[in-house]
Amino acid sequence: MIASSTANRSYWALKAPDREPAEPAAGPLSADVAIVGAGLTGLSTAWHLKQLRPDADVVLLEAETVGNGASGRNSGWVMPHLGLDPAALKLVYGAERTRAALEFAYAACDYVEELVGELALDCDYRRHGYTLVAVDEAGREELDATLKLYRDLGLGDKLEPLPAEEVGAHYGSPLLVAGVREPAGALLDPMRLVQGWERRVSDAGVRLHERSPVLRIEQAAGCRTLTTPTATVDAKQVVLATNAYTQTIAGLDRGLRLGQAPLYVYGAMTEPLSDELWAELGWERRDAIKTVLSMPHIFHPMPDGRIHLAYEVHVDWPARAASDFRVEFAREAERQLHALFPPLRDVRIEYHWGGPVSLTLDLVPHIGITPDRSLAYAFGWWGHGVSVTQLTGKLLAEMVTGAGDEVKRPWFARRRSLPWPTAGSARRIVGPLIGGQRLMHRRRLRGSPLA
Ligand SMILES: Cc1cc2nc3c(=O)[nH]c(=O)nc-3n(C[C@H](O)[C@H](O)[C@H](O)COP(=O)(O)OP(=O)(O)OC[C@H]3O[C@@H](n4cnc5c(N)ncnc54)[C@H](O)[C@@H]3O)c2cc1C
Repeated sequence: MIASSTANRSYWALKAPDREPAEPAAGPLSADVAIVGAGLTGLSTAWHLKQLRPDADVVLLEAETVGNGASGRNSGWVMPHLGLDPAALKLVYGAERTRAALEFAYAACDYVEELVGELALDCDYRRHGYTLVAVDEAGREELDATLKLYRDLGLGDKLEPLPAEEVGAHYGSPLLVAGVREPAGALLDPMRLVQGWERRVSDAGVRLHERSPVLRIEQAAGCRTLTTPTATVDAKQVVLATNAYTQTIAGLDRGLRLGQAPLYVYGAMTEPLSDELWAELGWERRDAIKTVLSMPHIFHPMPDGRIHLAYEVHVDWPARAASDFRVEFAREAERQLHALFPPLRDVRIEYHWGGPVSLTLDLVPHIGITPDRSLAYAFGWWGHGVSVTQLTGKLLAEMVTGAGDEVKRPWFARRRSLPWPTAGSARRIVGPLIGGQRLMHRRRLRGSPLA
């Protein structure tokens, strides 16, 4: 039974300090650079642009309010990952590119810590890593294969295997049979992070307009014109930081319109656990855990004594009401929690929500700029965007201003995007793959309380 529900707002959004939204854009406006989307990509780009060119007139246009997208809805894991999981990445792109992608992601995690400190982004940041855990023999083998892969890539020092006999006891779950720690990971409150960024961006002199959805972008002589319901903005350069929403803007070419497809993912939050329950459970490190199942689920302890869960994805959005999926997800998440942690059998989920991440056909993000340098973009961030989007903001700012060394950019920021063949093809291709994965998941767990 789900204890209570809310509108589709994340727990972090509901608990964040109240703030007055910025005024919508009004009238004909002009700017040197217009950034579309105030998630982590857009906010970081805006701030880095002002560091590189303090005199640039930068406008940031957000359809709703800052953090309305995945940046204010995610689980708050700062993860050293990019795109596909490393084994799949190696299969598709080879060892060299996989290592480069992971190195970028590790650098991104360090950069987040640097930014949080330097900009005093008050977001409950805690770098105590996270642990990949196995609940079956196949999972244990997967963890061994991951350790070997990292060693082969020269990244063996990044992961720490845990003694198998300690894992279940540490987290209070008889089902856990193996674990590998990823110490570089961190946890934070995503909405407070976004709000912290918003303050720094405004301090830097960026003009933020919320409730200002960009409906269309057209090319004109020497500028691009952005149209919102209440304004037009002529900008010499535009940065698209709209991730899973990019296809909703009219006037973009095929590569951008079909460059990615939205994939919906879900989060949930339990009621607070009593001190007695926490004592029974153990979990002294208070780090997050992620099972290595075909459909991963993650659990992490919150500073206020709750447990946050994330599990389940679907590509039907927006064809089927996302709210139906949210309730189904929350029921299943609660069942998984009870099965994995028997002492929590009476703990209820209090909040559940969902949000879109962005899936590219070649399963890596795309970061680029048009040859005339008038339009830069970054999309294709899915479940690992918190770290890498903030470093990408720096890259985008360098691309727009012409700073930085193009040759030194990561390989996925030097290639053309590979669009989906049609608007519906992601659903047709990925939907059955997810269905198949779910089936595998059920088969694999047959006989387990998690099945
Ligand atoms: C439930 C959930 C859990 C996740 N968990 C994690 C996690 O633990 N760790 C991790 O690393 N990643 C996680 N992710 C993914 C991560 O949140 C994203 O990859 C990242 O936030 C993407 O940031 P962004 O700024 O590119 O996009 P977004 O945050 O989606 O920002 C895009 C912004 O553009 C705005 N916009 C859209 N269209 C327009 C328009 N036409 N005009 C103006 N503005 C527009 C939107 O309102 C939005 O604010 C999770 C995502 C979800 C949904």
